[in-house]
Amino acid sequence: MSKTYTRAEVAKNNTEDSLWFIIDSKVYDATEFVDAHPGGEAVLRQVAGQDATAAFYNLHRHEVLTKYEDLCIGTIEGEKPQVFTPKPGDLSPVPYAEPLWLTPAFKSPYYNDSHRRLQKAMRVFTETVVLPEAQAREVDGKYISQELVQKMSEKGVLHMRMGPGKHLHGVNLLDGAVKGEEFDYFHDLIVAQEGVRVNARGFQDGSLAGMVIGLPCVMNFMKDERRKKAIMDEVFSGKKFICLAITEAFAGSDVAGLRTTATKTPDGKHYIVNGTKKWITNGAYSDYFVTGVKTDKGLSVLLIERGEGVETKPIKTSYSLTAGTAYITFDNVKVPAENLLGEENKGIYVILSNFNHERWTMACGSIRQSRIVVEECLKWAHQRLVFGKRLIDQPVIRQKLAKMIALVEANQSWLETITYQMCNMPYKEQSKHLGGPIGLLKMSVTRAAHEIADEAVQIFGGRGLTQSGMGKVIEMFHRTYKFDAILGGAEEVLGDLGVRQAMARFPNAKL
Ligand SMILES: Cc1cc2nc3c(=O)[nH]c(=O)nc-3n(C[C@H](O)[C@H](O)[C@H](O)COP(=O)(O)OP(=O)(O)OC[C@H]3O[C@@H](n4cnc5c(N)ncnc54)[C@H](O)[C@@H]3O)c2cc1C
Repeated sequence: MSKTYTRAEVAKNNTEDSLWFIIDSKVYDATEFVDAHPGGEAVLRQVAGQDATAAFYNLHRHEVLTKYEDLCIGTIEGEKPQVFTPKPGDLSPVPYAEPLWLTPAFKSPYYNDSHRRLQKAMRVFTETVVLPEAQAREVDGKYISQELVQKMSEKGVLHMRMGPGKHLHGVNLLDGAVKGEEFDYFHDLIVAQEGVRVNARGFQDGSLAGMVIGLPCVMNFMKDERRKKAIMDEVFSGKKFICLAITEAFAGSDVAGLRTTATKTPDGKHYIVNGTKKWITNGAYSDYFVTGVKTDKGLSVLLIERGEGVETKPIKTSYSLTAGTAYITFDNVKVPAENLLGEENKGIYVILSNFNHERWTMACGSIRQSRIVVEECLKWAHQRLVFGKRLIDQPVIRQKLAKMIALVEANQSWLETITYQMCNMPYKEQSKHLGGPIGLLKMSVTRAAHEIADEAVQIFGGRGLTQSGMGKVIEMFHRTYKFDAILGGAEEVLGDLGVRQAMARFPNAKL
């Protein structure tokens, strides 16, 4: 690769026996590659001996070149590559590709050095450790490997995804990027937003989203402290998996309509559970099921262990089977009475207690994913040539991009404002004041995702509907953005919650 050539030398290699071309000042010898080129031989012959930079980037992602690096035989004398190749952890130089707090020259009142350290460490970890497996699992549908879970455990990534709290004290968090004692909701936001950068929506949920929504019920409502600690240790060390099993075929948005029953045995020592659960994330491979059940006078929540009478079957959805989405049947399952979480017949408080954090985390992720789509669109509009000019030179495309950028920036700002309240409000106050705003935020974010997905596919054309190549990020987003619009509360339900909470505070006097 250290060899240099002149452009005239390259130009001579345009024959049957020798086919060279230049991409970004690098010389490639594709003589032996012509038959293997996925796009056919003819297009390579058209650029033989020439500078193919524009033609290449008009059709390919940069990562394609890195796959064929062994074809590179040298560089052009006196020239330097112009294409930016990010290293793991780098910030993107594309405008609006990073939130404003990570953009040079912009200031933010919310983030300090520990946030910046964590952001950098989390990005390197995500890109180097998680991303390769995420991409593979999204395609093959297998569940997350024990090896990756182990690495996430050792670096405290599993712990951090539960948000601030005592469970982080004294834990190694990405080799000291942040101390557990100083971890706040802005650190939490960073972990959530960096994590989605793997661009694998099914894997994003498959990488223990069930823990994020299921384990808090154990942490906050299990009475036996020793047992609680033992379960937390098992889950945080990656030895056992946990999920939240509330939804049933008959009861989704309407949680109170659950039909799974838990009947106390005459000696009061056990519950016998019968019923089904539907669409349970990670349910296919979980060991523990935090389960909503009907007891004699209301709803209750039980921790059920996989065992006799518990069966799980994978459900195919629009994203990858790697999410472990499951249909679950409980058939006369005997559950110790001490596995009751919270109070009997008052399980609704257990279920509601974690909704804010779940919805807020989903908003963090969906905004970040929308931003990645904006970045992809900006890059594509900049390089795609149609009718003799770049897409970005078309005013109608600039209008689409303007709308997309505005939606992402508005939602990120609202997210940060709410996050600031979370950092400065005791948990009880959060439940009282933030349920409505977080519901409205999530609704706003997924409505924006709808607009962004739609415009992004238009900008990418056929590639936006193709699962490989230039438009693969867009195709995935367009296929999967609805998960955030339904899971954790449908848009209509959250919008309604936001307005009803506001009405509850409406002044009595006529205005
Ligand atoms: C892939 C996937 C993973 C999931 N993971 C989990 C999990 O881990 N654990 C779990 O317990 N659940 C899980 N769910 C279930 C999810 O939370 C429910 O799908 C969601 O709550 C909506 O319930 P539903 O699908 O039964 O829709 P329904 O309740 O039947 O509602 C259908 C539609 O009706 C409208 N609607 C409903 N109520 C109202 C209202 N009051 N006002 C106006 N409009 C309304 C909304 O548009 C809504 O989308 C998952 C679902 C999917 C698809």
